[in-house]
Amino acid sequence: MSAELPWGPAPDGVDTPYWDGLLAGELRLQRCGCCATWIWGPQWLCPRCHTFDPGWAPVEPVGTVYSWSRSWYPFIAELPVPLPYVTVLVQLPQAGNRRVLGILHESGADTEIAIGARVSGRFVHDPGATWPLLRWTEVAR
Ligand SMILES: [Zn+2]
Repeated sequence: MSAELPWGPAPDGVDTPYWDGLLAGELRLQRCGCCATWIWGPQWLCPRCHTFDPGWAPVEPVGTVYSWSRSWYPFIAELPVPLPYVTVLVQLPQAGNRRVLGILHESGADTEIAIGARVSGRFVHDPGATWPLLRWTEVAR
């Protein structure tokens, strides 16, 4: 059942360390071992120095909301989240301001989230799912 879910590692394996990190309760982004550039989304080459297989590093899942959107349509039917929900684009200052997408935990039609709001991520592993997902929650100001 879970093998049919539309999330998890890409067939070519370029993002497998990200998913393995979620399983281990850790957010991992690519960081070039040669020039220290943070990279997201996953790539085979460092876009700065062209090092092959640039490497991965753990990142504390804390950041600020760069942008957000409310979804009223089930773009991913298998996603175990009631509609509507809020997707946030989270900027990670400790990872070169790279931005990652995620769902705002327990968001809905009345959820208000400000650009610049501080959020922290947690790893949610829904029953029956092979791969966990990172969910974001606003941190009290
Ligand atoms: Zn590099």
